[in-house]
Amino acid sequence: MSQNGNGTKAPKKNGRKKRRYMTMNAYTNAMLQFDQAVGVLGLTSDQVAMIKDPRKIIQLSLPVRMDDSSIRIFHAYRVQHSVIRGPAKGGVRFHQDVSLDEVKALALWMTMKCSVVNIPFGGGKGGIVVDPRTLSLGELERLSRRYFAALAEDIGPDQDVPAPDVNTNPQVMAWFMDTYSMRYNEYTPAVVTGKPLELGGSKGRDIATAQGTCYCLDEAAKHLEMDLEGAKVAIQGFGNAGSNAADMLVKKGAKVVAISDITGAYYNEKGIDIKAAIAWKNQHKSILTDFEQAGKAEKMDDPMKLLELPVDILIPAALENQISDQNADRVQARIIAEAANGPVTHLADQILGKKGTFIIPDILCNAGGVTVSYFEWVQNRMGFYWPKSKVTEELRWFMRKGFKATLHESLKHNVSMRVAAFIVAIERLTKAAELRGLYA
Ligand code: NAD
Repeated sequence: MSQNGNGTKAPKKNGRKKRRYMTMNAYTNAMLQFDQAVGVLGLTSDQVAMIKDPRKIIQLSLPVRMDDSSIRIFHAYRVQHSVIRGPAKGGVRFHQDVSLDEVKALALWMTMKCSVVNIPFGGGKGGIVVDPRTLSLGELERLSRRYFAALAEDIGPDQDVPAPDVNTNPQVMAWFMDTYSMRYNEYTPAVVTGKPLELGGSKGRDIATAQGTCYCLDEAAKHLEMDLEGAKVAIQGFGNAGSNAADMLVKKGAKVVAISDITGAYYNEKGIDIKAAIAWKNQHKSILTDFEQAGKAEKMDDPMKLLELPVDILIPAALENQISDQNADRVQARIIAEAANGPVTHLADQILGKKGTFIIPDILCNAGGVTVSYFEWVQNRMGFYWPKSKVTEELRWFMRKGFKATLHESLKHNVSMRVAAFIVAIERLTKAAELRGLYA
């Protein structure tokens, strides 16, 4: 059956278009997604100009004293894509492949994400080009502090509020917060989110991204009249987003048959013992290395084949561009829940749309993290802290609203959930930009 990626039938088109392989960087991908939604909305060039390009790009060269007393320079970025609906908001990634284009794409997606779930933030993202596994703890702390010190003038609770992303964690956020607080001689927890609970972190932030993904899956299953209980799931990436999603889905009765991380992919047709996998990871420096030796799963020869398994739900929870026009044809899952940012390229999106795959797009599917970050920021500013039950309840409300608004636009315009999510976000942004007008 040919579908539009929203569960409804689409008219069949005659003839096959010749596909062309295109290496696509994340920013090109983000721009194409943005332009597609703008096309449906028919915005004017002035309206587009107000919301499309990043408002500020900061590039840094950070000198850091290494343990052997040498000085090493690290390249780093912070991109503030938008501050129209509120302060820029978005994580900081430590990874050897970080590039300016990647950070620009991630910053734009943050703007869209905050707008889809209707929280009062713009979008931003940061990154340092580094493989943190090559640093000692002391080097990591000095690099983190130097990065935040260099950004001190450009960030703040009302300007730009960073958070964790790939390879950064509550400890790094604590160093960020301390650096800023010492610089301005003022305890300022609201300058970052994703902090440890002892320093103003929010209950439930650690599992929020996965929780948000699961709320979206609940709604998607309802829409598609599918049962999550017994559903087969494959998850790429077993970090914060992936491992917590695995844990929650197993609790809902789903069967997680494959998981992967940088060490490889592990498969068990009968379902992987996720508690054992998490325990194994915790005992092995946060990676699944040699997990097959635990006797709970077999190691797959090619980890990318995890994406092509015969499952009901596929959750990419690692990095961008994992499903491209090179492998989209072979993806069998009925639902793709994008816990990661940008895991499906624009071309793959078209292929999957024609196959009828229901994609819950990243800007909606992983918005649980930033939503609870918003709750953390609110709690920091109030100086009053919520119980976990309130966080969970509020998160469910925001995610359901976001999902329903997106599904509504998808059905209304007969477009994919991704285009629909961009439509929801862009309409809110355009309205806000028009109301603010131009300063001077
Ligand atoms: P993380 O660092 O905790 O985990 C990343 C996981 O991906 C690790 O298990 C790592 O080994 C694995 N990985 C890396 N490269 C891989 C590869 N080539 N193949 C398979 N696995 C690979 O990061 P995270 O916070 O879980 O983030 C994962 C994704 O989710 C990212 O795209 C991130 O931007 C997105 N995300 C995270 C949050 C959050 O709150 N953590 C919020 C929104 C979006």
